[in-house]
Amino acid sequence: MAEIKLDRVSHSYYAKPREHNDFALKEIDHLWLDGGAYALLGPSGCGKTTLLNIISGLQTPSSGRVLFDGIDVTALSPEDRNIAQVFQFPVIYDTMTVTENLQFPLLNRGVDKAETSKRVAEMLETLELTDKAKRKARGLTADEKQKISLGRGLVRYDVNAVLFDEPLTVIDPQMKWQLRTKLKQLHQRFGHTMVYVTHDQTEALTFADAVVVMYEGEVVQIGTPEELFERPEHTFVGYFIGSPGMNILPCDLSKNVAYIAGHKVPLSSAYQLPPNTQRLELGIRPEFIRLTRGSHGIPVQLQSVEDIGRFRIAKVKVADHPVSVLVQQGFDIPASDHRIVFHPDKCGIYVNDRRIQGTTAHNKVSAGAVA
Ligand code: ATP
Repeated sequence: MAEIKLDRVSHSYYAKPREHNDFALKEIDHLWLDGGAYALLGPSGCGKTTLLNIISGLQTPSSGRVLFDGIDVTALSPEDRNIAQVFQFPVIYDTMTVTENLQFPLLNRGVDKAETSKRVAEMLETLELTDKAKRKARGLTADEKQKISLGRGLVRYDVNAVLFDEPLTVIDPQMKWQLRTKLKQLHQRFGHTMVYVTHDQTEALTFADAVVVMYEGEVVQIGTPEELFERPEHTFVGYFIGSPGMNILPCDLSKNVAYIAGHKVPLSSAYQLPPNTQRLELGIRPEFIRLTRGSHGIPVQLQSVEDIGRFRIAKVKVADHPVSVLVQQGFDIPASDHRIVFHPDKCGIYVNDRRIQGTTAHNKVSAGAVA
């Protein structure tokens, strides 16, 4: 296992990139701690696979360095980096038995027969494939084949890291959950450094200790699932994590009061805007808005109410801006005069998509510092 450092890594698929947008990966500096379980989360095309392939050595970055335990491996091939990679579709030998498939990476690297048998037996048991050990891979289901792929990646205890590129895409939903739990157990047991690429937030949040969120070739936040929910550092994180995502509303601001379509929203911190402010927005999750009626709060037009089981989502409009509000079951939605009230502690202020830090009586951080 190794600590993996990306030192100012960027990548363009163009031979002569001219502008910022020609880069599939903008400059990335990141440390993947030894034994950490990370998810790389982001929408299609944001650069997840490019980044994973740069770590494994399938891709050489246009600039920057990749270091394993402080040693520069940027020029090394995937074999020389001693990495196991599991792809979206099973990579196994159909004509070999399940056991032979699992043995292959070990015998290939000169692990002795007794040790190989021990590890393969253990992996068969962990993956619940012991009863299929002598079956040819050819006749197995897609789920079972992908389990073998996972096993081939994990059977080598000496790898520097195990990289997963959307490994559960072909697996049916029930089995997905089981395999994810299995992966987590394997991580706890063997302590491999794991990087797991996905565009599915549930998969990322349940697998990883730390989630690395990517957007347009940049890492926009690294955090625990709780941090990403409670304190999105970028409007994209707020919007992408959560269902429905965070509401992001254009606003004006004066110290500790925001104005949305001219209506006052009290905040628990005071803010001073940085000089480069082009876009100013307030972010608040549907969970932290209360739907009410009367004279208190911002007047809204109620558009629709969706029942999604344990709660309902009211879709309202403030002037022309849509807002989602979470409504607990049992709450009687008033027939008219709808208003919304924001929880002051849960409002984030975003300048040019980045969250800025405010000052409270208890918080002496300088106002206006970009977080
Ligand atoms: P997905 O979830 O769809 O796999 P991703 O987040 O893994 O997407 P990448 O596959 O890394 O994203 O692609 C990042 C960007 O680089 C995209 O704009 C993509 O079109 C571009 N790209 C990827 N591979 C190549 C390539 N071989 N040649 C040219 N452009 C590429």
